[in-house]
Amino acid sequence: MKTAPIIDEDSKHRATSPARFKFWGVRGSIPSPGPGTVRYGGNTSCLEVRAGGEIIILDAGTGLRPLGRELMTEFKDRPFNLTLLLTHTHWDHIQGLPFFRPIYEPQCRLRILGYEGARKSLVNVLSGQMESPYFPVLFDELPGNVQIEELKELEFRVGSVRVQAWFANHPGICVGYRIFTDDGSVAFFPDNEPHTRLHKPLPVPKADGKAALDYALAQEEKMVGFIRGVDALILDSQFDAEEYKSHVGWGHGYVDYAVTLALKAGVKKLFLFHHDPDHDDTKVESMLAHARKLVAAQKASLQVDAAREGMVVELAAIAKQAAG
Ligand SMILES: [Zn+2]
Ligand SMILES: [Zn+2]
Repeated sequence: MKTAPIIDEDSKHRATSPARFKFWGVRGSIPSPGPGTVRYGGNTSCLEVRAGGEIIILDAGTGLRPLGRELMTEFKDRPFNLTLLLTHTHWDHIQGLPFFRPIYEPQCRLRILGYEGARKSLVNVLSGQMESPYFPVLFDELPGNVQIEELKELEFRVGSVRVQAWFANHPGICVGYRIFTDDGSVAFFPDNEPHTRLHKPLPVPKADGKAALDYALAQEEKMVGFIRGVDALILDSQFDAEEYKSHVGWGHGYVDYAVTLALKAGVKKLFLFHHDPDHDDTKVESMLAHARKLVAAQKASLQVDAAREGMVVELAAIAKQAAG
């Protein structure tokens, strides 16, 4: 198989552009198109980060498909490099991959990085969803230059961009990432439940209630330490507080908890993310208004927004707004 040499002529120009990110999919669990979700969007988890001359994609939910289309319009026949960081391999975080145009184009070089899938290796999980009963093109037949690598370390670099990973509280292996740029940092935790409902086995088997709670609170402190001072935190806020009561153990958070965590960690801007597929635009808006009310009641400076498909955010603008 012949692949084009990768000479990325645009990377110098991109290295000097301000760091920014764009939401391509903000929904959790399953795509939810329809008139009720037109404003915030129905595609599942996908974020594009541009920093230090790199194009870093977080998660391969169905939002990856329109991103692929735009990348092909941008690069056409020219060679380009992409890095895809996966938080975990639940459907809503990998389903866009078979429909991502660049993987069928030899001028694209894609590195997929992630931690081991729940029971199988990352390669097996990602190629498995393209096997014959599910999809017409086998992963091995892709003409593009796609590399899958399992991460072992919690800190690494994508080109000159420093990245850290930390474990989310979610069934199976699931991480969040923090990406450090010259203009500030962004942390991405699409799926995360309050630690008081633990998804990992306790280090002490049969620990009593107090030991279990202490352990949960210690885990939460670690999470707070990981996201401390981040400019943008994109965090699982699937439910409202009332709904959460009947979804304990599902692996997802709620708005009040997301605000508490962001305030504790001194985050500058919180983006509510992983919107419930049954929540229409009006519901997401009311959850956003509730989050802002909670912040105002604390007289805190935290900015809050609800992630919306197509929304572009410059990291430097967040810091400027926080200072002004
Ligand atoms: Zn999810
Ligand atoms: Zn998940």
